[in-house]
Amino acid sequence: MHLAVAARTDVGRVRKGNEDSLHASANAHRGLFIVADGMGGHAAGEVASEMAVEMVSHDLSDLNDLEAADSHERVANALRDANRAVFERTRIERDKLGMGSTVSAILLSETRFIVGHVGDSRIYLVRDGRMSQLTKDHSLVQEQVDAGLLTPEQARRHPQSNVITRCIGMADEIEPDVFDGDVRVGDAFLLASDGLTGMVDDRRIQQLLVSRAKPERIVDALIQEANVNGGNDNITAVVVRVLAAESTGTDHEVTPIPPAPAHG
Ligand code: CA
Repeated sequence: MHLAVAARTDVGRVRKGNEDSLHASANAHRGLFIVADGMGGHAAGEVASEMAVEMVSHDLSDLNDLEAADSHERVANALRDANRAVFERTRIERDKLGMGSTVSAILLSETRFIVGHVGDSRIYLVRDGRMSQLTKDHSLVQEQVDAGLLTPEQARRHPQSNVITRCIGMADEIEPDVFDGDVRVGDAFLLASDGLTGMVDDRRIQQLLVSRAKPERIVDALIQEANVNGGNDNITAVVVRVLAAESTGTDHEVTPIPPAPAHG
């Protein structure tokens, strides 16, 4: 696998602690990338997102063949196992009551990706200059978008935009979304918590991802702009670009970051 990767989480400008967690790893066969956004008082959100990331990454550490017949089931089971573990702690430990976490995970090989997803963290794909959102938010406002009651932009600014309908730790069983797709050289993937996607609009995210700037510079720009726009929540961004097999990972074309739109 030849990937250029950058991953960073930032507390933002309002919150005291960072309840987001992330994972980024790659071996010769595939990469594994996870963003989790925790919730719950008394620092329980941090515990939940850390547990989710650790359990899912551990469960999937030896899943190397993304074409294997049981690969979807393994991804689903990793999320279900994490859910049961977090849910169990919410029942046993009083200060963990109500804790939970989103999980958006992607396994990437040279030809295929598999996504496992619950909650409102997101995975985007940029291919041929166009960005598409691979995951669908499990949120109250997304349901209203689906019903035609809100536009996506209204949903982003809605006061209840952070209310999610599915997450790790919410119930004794969860139904994760699991799906796959093809991977091509040049694809760029973004995993992000809602502290990024709620603060920086899709058009700007696409503009940055379409640029051929290095992933570290894109991640830095995304986090900086989320902070400039308010930084109301913890901000996490993981950018993965699929490089040609002969690429060393450092020789891809590098261009400047497009300038940020002016703020009035
Ligand atoms: Ca968040």
